[in-house]
Amino acid sequence: MSRVVVVGGGVIGACCAYYLAKAGRAVTVLDRGKFGAACSHANCGYVCPSHVLPLAVPGAMWSTLKTLFQRNSPLKVRPWVVLKNLGWFFGFARKCNKRDMMAAGHAIQALLNSSRTLFDDLIRTEHIECEWQTKGLLFVFMSKNHFEHYTHTDELLRSEFAMPAKRFDSAELAALEPALKPGMAGGYLYESDAHLRPDRLMSELQRVLLALGVEIRENCEAKGFAKANGTASAVRTNAGDVPADQFVVATGAWTPLFNSELGCRVPIQPGKGYSLTMPRPALCPAYPLIFEEHRVAVTPFASGYRLGSTMEFAGYDDRMNRARLSLLTDAAKLYLKEPLAEPVEEEWWGWRPMTYDGLPVIDRAPAATNVLIAAGHNMLGLSMATATGKLVCELLCGEKPHIDPVPYALRR
Ligand SMILES: Cc1cc2nc3c(=O)[nH]c(=O)nc-3n(C[C@H](O)[C@H](O)[C@H](O)COP(=O)(O)OP(=O)(O)OC[C@H]3O[C@@H](n4cnc5c(N)ncnc54)[C@H](O)[C@@H]3O)c2cc1C
Repeated sequence: MSRVVVVGGGVIGACCAYYLAKAGRAVTVLDRGKFGAACSHANCGYVCPSHVLPLAVPGAMWSTLKTLFQRNSPLKVRPWVVLKNLGWFFGFARKCNKRDMMAAGHAIQALLNSSRTLFDDLIRTEHIECEWQTKGLLFVFMSKNHFEHYTHTDELLRSEFAMPAKRFDSAELAALEPALKPGMAGGYLYESDAHLRPDRLMSELQRVLLALGVEIRENCEAKGFAKANGTASAVRTNAGDVPADQFVVATGAWTPLFNSELGCRVPIQPGKGYSLTMPRPALCPAYPLIFEEHRVAVTPFASGYRLGSTMEFAGYDDRMNRARLSLLTDAAKLYLKEPLAEPVEEEWWGWRPMTYDGLPVIDRAPAATNVLIAAGHNMLGLSMATATGKLVCELLCGEKPHIDPVPYALRR
């Protein structure tokens, strides 16, 4: 039986391992820490085909640069990060135009749409208990100006991406979501979106993988590969070599640390985001919400309630920044009648693996033909995970890919 080692036990590595094990491969997953404990642990839990547009849209470079001089904006870029990573930020600047935005949008959409269907199948087939709900996602606008301006985006998503939303004016929105304060300008409901509880998903995926015979090794840090003639024979780890026939590198924001081993520059920057998890308030929102002007998300789970989001380019800074956490609570207070509940069960941050064009890298490493990179899923790693896992499996098994992999190539 052909053996595959997946490096990285986040949602991407877990889904790659799932489809590979289903295809009859002997799979080992390695993680430097605990399985599912990094960025896939306490994100907002949206599986959201509505999010087709990348961060790099016309005008985004200017608004990003402005954050260099703002004290605590939802999107924040530290000046030294720009100076140290000029190539990444130039790449981002080059992509902030309509043509590249549309091309990225279609490639993002292929993964999102396929993943949404595959999540339904995975959850049903494997009886995964992760508080899966298919109510949609409600975008909420506080100011009339922003609400009216969003009409252009709505029209673009409708006409170019076949992604319609239901529009609610102020009174209709108040009736739809009574947890909101009165006086919101309006909202858009994307009915095809869904949500789940990410930590439950990861522990359920662990259960399913173990039942399929996948070996999961925690506290096992990959350091590089044993290679000869352009082929890898083992992953070198702090616990010795782990041999295999094929390898998947699904190490999220850490992937560029392997650049020299992979023989390329994987264009990923950590994009730090935060979340706060607490019990459900008495007047809990019925819908998952995004507060568009403040870029804050609210996820009501059956077993809890989460505020999340914000984006900070601060390199591999692993400190908990309390000012970033208060952006979440401050925004929630503006929109919700009962924004918080006691006690706060978890304060969390994670590094999103951000590429400058919004697309993941799903491609073979130049340094070894049997090593496949699957990383850089930006703000949508959960939403793209199942399709990525299936695509990686198809590429490694030599099957016809269900999605065209060309847009995710290293050279694009
Ligand atoms: C606040 C916030 C909210 C978000 N909300 C959403 C959302 O609602 N929907 C959505 O789709 N996405 C969301 N995201 C993005 C999503 O969480 C990420 O895109 C996704 O988790 C990335 O998954 P991953 O498996 O690539 O990375 P990770 O989950 O970070 O996993 C990578 C793993 O690799 C391991 N690793 C790294 N280096 C090594 C090594 N050398 N050896 C062994 N193991 C290694 C790490 O320990 C880690 O476990 C959000 C992110 C944040 C921060």
